[in-house]
Amino acid sequence: MTVRPLPFRPPPARDELLSSWIGRLAKANHCSAEELCGYLGLGQGRVPEHINDLGQVDWTRLCSAVQRTRDEIAAMSLPDTVHHAVRYVSRHDFQHCPGCTEQTPDLALRHWRFAWSLTCETCGQSLAAKYPAGAVSERLLARAARGAQALETAVVNNNLRRLRRMELTLHVVSMLDVGRSASVISANERERSIALAAVDVGKTRPLLGAAIILRANDRTVRGLRRAFPKHGRVIERIRAMSHALDRRLPGRWETEHPTGQKTYGTSRPSASESALQAARQAISELGTEADRQVLLARADAIWKRSGGIES
Ligand SMILES: [Zn+2]
Repeated sequence: MTVRPLPFRPPPARDELLSSWIGRLAKANHCSAEELCGYLGLGQGRVPEHINDLGQVDWTRLCSAVQRTRDEIAAMSLPDTVHHAVRYVSRHDFQHCPGCTEQTPDLALRHWRFAWSLTCETCGQSLAAKYPAGAVSERLLARAARGAQALETAVVNNNLRRLRRMELTLHVVSMLDVGRSASVISANERERSIALAAVDVGKTRPLLGAAIILRANDRTVRGLRRAFPKHGRVIERIRAMSHALDRRLPGRWETEHPTGQKTYGTSRPSASESALQAARQAISELGTEADRQVLLARADAIWKRSGGIES
């Protein structure tokens, strides 16, 4: 079935997201996005943006109405990520480019939805989080950028083993109530930076940061066992490393590293973040092939010296 082309058809911006373009088409033609979706044969409900939202589309009708090819329209959609271990595509506009949206209000580009996008590919500005953090240290941002790169590489290469390992690292961090969701697509800049930084730490010494964090925290270990019944061996390795730390440095942990509930949105610096930093520094000082016990002891010393809390 063919329909008449829409009278006003603003061209899509480079890498524009399908839902963003449909919204701008609707505005140009003085109707709501829902009304336009009805006319285009896209059905009711959410404006399509994922490739699997386009499964039942009448392409002849859609292509003739917007005067674009099927390939052009499909290229504006987001990939289907359901089968991946780490959720790396946001379903919401969790960040935006201040420069591009000033020029074109309501614009949303496709790559802004990806966990690893930290700068705008169109204009080069830093992307702005929906909920910006007051103060995020340069070191954390640099580490988050490395984690973002590692995540992108794992996804591009479809490295499922690495993605599962990242999922485990993120789960460890979220079990501590520090990063809360430990989501690489969190709209909260601080949470997302910590999650991406954890991915970076997990890249070189997947279990080291977790071991430091888990010291004397059996509740978390039990939670991990429940959440990952098939990862028993990995969890036991983390636990063994944690216990090794406890033997070396007994009695300090509980007072310096409280693991109680944390209120959402508070700005208290996170203990796990500084533990991850310490782990990372120990690795950079001693190298990834260094003896595990030496690394753990060094990381703990750094962590202790820093007061256990990022300033
Ligand atoms: Zn931009």
